[in-house]
Amino acid sequence: MLGLYIHIPFCEKICDYCDFFTIQGPNRLHGEYLDLLSREISAFSERHPGAIQQVDTLYLGGGTPSILSPEELSRLFSILGEAGVPLLHLKESTMEFNPESTDAERLAVAVENGITRASIGLQSLRPELLQAVGRRHTPESGLAALERLLSQPGLRVTADLMFDLPGQTAPQFLEDLDSLSAYPLGHISFYGLKVDPRTRLGHRLEKGLVQVDEDLYGDMYREGVRLLESRGFERYEVSNFARPGEESLHNLNYWRRGQYLAFGPSAHAFFEGVRFHAPDRYPEWRRYVEAGCPDSLLAKDPIGHDEAVAELIQLSLRTKYGLDIEALRQARVSISDKTISKWIGCGFLKWQGSRLVLHGDGWLFMDTVVADIYSNLE
Ligand code: SF4
Repeated sequence: MLGLYIHIPFCEKICDYCDFFTIQGPNRLHGEYLDLLSREISAFSERHPGAIQQVDTLYLGGGTPSILSPEELSRLFSILGEAGVPLLHLKESTMEFNPESTDAERLAVAVENGITRASIGLQSLRPELLQAVGRRHTPESGLAALERLLSQPGLRVTADLMFDLPGQTAPQFLEDLDSLSAYPLGHISFYGLKVDPRTRLGHRLEKGLVQVDEDLYGDMYREGVRLLESRGFERYEVSNFARPGEESLHNLNYWRRGQYLAFGPSAHAFFEGVRFHAPDRYPEWRRYVEAGCPDSLLAKDPIGHDEAVAELIQLSLRTKYGLDIEALRQARVSISDKTISKWIGCGFLKWQGSRLVLHGDGWLFMDTVVADIYSNLE
């Protein structure tokens, strides 16, 4: 499998919790951005002829891809098509939509160009909570956009919620999840709020202007999982839930350590055994593209044996497929019986054939389990 990620780094307004490299407006940069993106893709294709033609899945993420006007979006697809991306023959093609820019025209351009899956960030269905984290949309506009996506024939739709927001109670989160799961969605994701101290929300927290009750995190997660499972969704990754056959192929490829290409500032790729990304910030990325995308300006992280083992443990344990002990054996490492017994004993891991999978509260303490397994390899 080969994935392709295209980053659109623009947002109308920066959400108060956002720690991504995003640019607020201005729309006049969009044209220049698409020119540069086209040059970046061409430079890669010259060095790796035939690679782009092999892409299986496409993901347009950001930022806000739907901030592009229908004409700009159309141009983006032309750039990808001319570069050789088989837009109408992909196994999956996802585009992220924000409620404010989910309209019929953009949707038509997306679907005509092979988009088969739409991802919409709703985050909450309560106006006061959306305001508390600086989202621009209202619950009504979010649900109207969701309905617009759902009414598009053949389009698979996934929606995101956040939990442990400032002032949010567990019943409020569960009520949102309950309402959302009543829509004919094949996929839902929910993420606990992690506050970066450098964000606007981080500053407000530091000054004591808002509070986040971290003690509620575990209860909200457990109850959220229970609710979605009772509605026929299965947790196939720590934050992702799907009805049968509705899993994201593009994201599964990440967690299976498959290869993927990525273009745009801060977009991370994994190709031919190396993880790499172009400069994070827009001005540096522009200089990188204008200089002909020299290899020397890429941040590179070659993956040796130890890194590959660490990734295998960390990425596979976050999915329902778990960690295949046979794959570890092939990498000439094993986990001590003592370590396995300890985590099975406390109910955080279980065997599923030759695979170790997270169990019970193991999903909540995944980082601790992963770190312990990695430091006790034999
Ligand atoms: S829409 Fe997404 S990427 Fe844009 S500012 Fe909000 S959280 Fe960040």
